[in-house]
Amino acid sequence: MLENVRIILIGTSHPGNIGSAARAMKTMGLTNLVLVQPECEIDGKSVALSAGATDVLQNHKVCNSLDEAIADCGLVIGASARPRTLDWPMLDPREMGEKAVVEGQKYPVALVFGRENSGLTNDELQKCHFHVFIPANPDYSSLNLAMAVQTLSYEVRMAFLAAKAYPEQEQEYPLTEEIEGLFNHLEQTLTDTRFIVPAHPGLVMNKLRRFFNRARPEVKEIRMWRGILSSIQKSVLPAEKDPEK
Ligand code: SAH
Repeated sequence: MLENVRIILIGTSHPGNIGSAARAMKTMGLTNLVLVQPECEIDGKSVALSAGATDVLQNHKVCNSLDEAIADCGLVIGASARPRTLDWPMLDPREMGEKAVVEGQKYPVALVFGRENSGLTNDELQKCHFHVFIPANPDYSSLNLAMAVQTLSYEVRMAFLAAKAYPEQEQEYPLTEEIEGLFNHLEQTLTDTRFIVPAHPGLVMNKLRRFFNRARPEVKEIRMWRGILSSIQKSVLPAEKDPEK
């Protein structure tokens, strides 16, 4: 199950932080490290600070986008140094650990960490089902990146060690790529019905993402939505444009 917990670092700029994050992960039994658009190379400093967790460093993957890094994940949790960056479902670190362990039995779970100087963008935060905030000193709440990785990895480990107490998850949640497919379909349909005007798209899709995130639809519900959207498209598109006619 711990192999299914993926630590994703976006835009990291200090090689030492990557090494320290690898060490933090390995001490807690996590091995799956993904760097999204890193701003630095892994170097001697990374290796020194990884202090023997060189296997985690060596096995890291690099992705060009967060989308690519989370496409096969069923649960995505963004770590934010600010308690409420967007009005989004929040978990405390303990709840995050429990969720990661329960859902990690079924599919990859991502913990996403932001840049040292600017954290995660709103766009990246909106790709997450939940945000997690380490309830630090309100006047000084931003931990060093690797320390944040350490704290959250520890919570995953604690939940893992207690895991016998957790029931198996019954719901089947969609993976990111399936839910992104729904968002594309929604945007296309709402453009066809002219609810979204391409020149002035506004915040419709952001608000819908927030809504669907909060509802956490299951696989069957996503399929029903796709069916609903196809039926709407069929009735609004002129017959000659309908691929089925
Ligand atoms: N200056 C940035 C913070 C960067 S710290 C900002 O204002 O957002 C680097 C990363 O460590 C953050 O993006 C977040 O993923 C993680 N982090 C730091 N402190 C955290 C906290 N208190 N709770 C959760 N994650 C935290």
